[in-house]
Amino acid sequence: MIEVMSLNNPLDSLIDYIVDALQKAFGIKIVKGISLYLPEGFIDLSRLQYRGSEVLRWMSESYGGKDRIFLGIVEGDAYVEGLDFIFGIASPALKTALVFTSRLRYLADEKLFLERVLKEVMHEVGHVFGLSHCPNRRCVMSFSNSILDVDRKSRRYCLNCFRKLRNLGIKVRDDALLRE
Ligand SMILES: [Zn+2]
Ligand SMILES: [Zn+2]
Repeated sequence: MIEVMSLNNPLDSLIDYIVDALQKAFGIKIVKGISLYLPEGFIDLSRLQYRGSEVLRWMSESYGGKDRIFLGIVEGDAYVEGLDFIFGIASPALKTALVFTSRLRYLADEKLFLERVLKEVMHEVGHVFGLSHCPNRRCVMSFSNSILDVDRKSRRYCLNCFRKLRNLGIKVRDDALLRE
């Protein structure tokens, strides 16, 4: 089961869209989880960004540890040591993933914004299931350094990544396979 949590009050329609799209991509139960505000202590005041790994650990300690994956959609921006910013972060060990929406809004209308969030969601969920980064630039598991990279990739897994997921026993549906 994947529980989609709403952090810092992103639009309800965004959460519904993600739940729906994940349900089309995976043969696993997807549920809408709780909605909460992140403690302000996780904000690095010198750069006004969340410390990504700390939020991830906190979320896993507070809500994880059960038979489910936690995916948090965060209204906000974050970084990890060594990177100016991150679009998302995931840990297969903690079965937890986060996607940060702020930078995905850049020059985007509603449709493009939803698409970008979904791509980052599919990417981080792929990490939780055990996938690494993929050299195929159209594959959703390719690493995104910028918003251009996000727009260049599709929301689907290339055949390689798709097969890996199936081999790991993940019920990924044909809809999530990149056919080109
Ligand atoms: Zn990644
Ligand atoms: Zn791939």
